[in-house]
Amino acid sequence: PRLANQIAAGEVVERPASVVKELVENAIDAGSTRIELELEGGGARLIRVRDNGCGITEEDLPLALSRHATSKIESLDDLEGVASLGFRGEALASISSVSRLELFSNVSDEPANGWRVVAEGREMSPRVSPAPHPRGTSVAVRDLFFNTPARRKFMRTEKTEFGHVEESFRRLALSRHDIGWTLRHNQKVVHQLRAGEDTLTVERRIGALLGRNFLEHALHLDIEASGLRLSGWVGLPTHSRAQADQQYFFVNGRVVRDRLVAHAVRQAYRDVLFHGRHPVFVLYLELDPTVVDVNVHPTKHEVRFRDGRLVHDFLFSSLHKALAEVRP
Ligand code: ADP
Ligand code: MG
Repeated sequence: PRLANQIAAGEVVERPASVVKELVENAIDAGSTRIELELEGGGARLIRVRDNGCGITEEDLPLALSRHATSKIESLDDLEGVASLGFRGEALASISSVSRLELFSNVSDEPANGWRVVAEGREMSPRVSPAPHPRGTSVAVRDLFFNTPARRKFMRTEKTEFGHVEESFRRLALSRHDIGWTLRHNQKVVHQLRAGEDTLTVERRIGALLGRNFLEHALHLDIEASGLRLSGWVGLPTHSRAQADQQYFFVNGRVVRDRLVAHAVRQAYRDVLFHGRHPVFVLYLELDPTVVDVNVHPTKHEVRFRDGRLVHDFLFSSLHKALAEVRP
């Protein structure tokens, strides 16, 4: 229970976009190289995430849907240096308690060896039966909040909900260039992104997700010092259509919205006198995972650096130097 408290999961299922995030993080953790998302009705009717990862064994299938049974953390020590995205062991259980969830999985390369498990609402007792499926996992979440009218009422229009889904997708796809992605909504392909970490493929992805305009007015940087590495793109003041929300920061491949980080970036921008411009950026910070605690809050994307000052100063000076060089 103490561990459970420290993990402090809270509510993970707020709207379709949060379901997307949890399902995709599981797919990433499973080592997938291809992840396909399919939504209907902004995600209220259907959210399907299909991956080609390691799959779930028949024995583990019912466990995967029960709370805390399969948490990837086994001891408090594991809380340090958490490498995987999921570490609470309750996303699938929570989602299946407020939707009709159907999961297919196969750990082998023989499609006939697949399994299916369904769970509907709180009354669920997962039923497992054989079903063909290629190696990997597909999770379909239908009729989100069908049994919780109060929460269903909080869902906005299809367009608004899909907007949130797309934003989650953007963050996830920007976090892993080595994964190929597809996003479909109401049978239409919204994004199709090839896997690849070469400059051309990465820039094509960023252009597709953030608009071509972004890269045309951005400075690429890649700086390493004292065990820290900062790479990515920062928007230049010539980017006239900069949007306040185009701020993407990843720490060891994980999306982060952190005050210390935001402060360092803002400070660097202000110093170089980009008056009246929103800082826009896609930045990747890499550092030793044991000096950063990702467990501050499971959904708020905060982190705690062991040496916050070092990180802050590194970010500030790296950005300051890079921006000053191109100051008009
Ligand atoms: P957590 O990710 O915190 O462990 P979840 O409820 O999200 O908890 O998932 C429960 C478990 O189900 C995971 O720990 C994992 O073992 C398994 N699982 C879920 N989704 C997948 C997937 N797409 N591929 C492989 N295993 C999965
Ligand atoms: Mg998870």
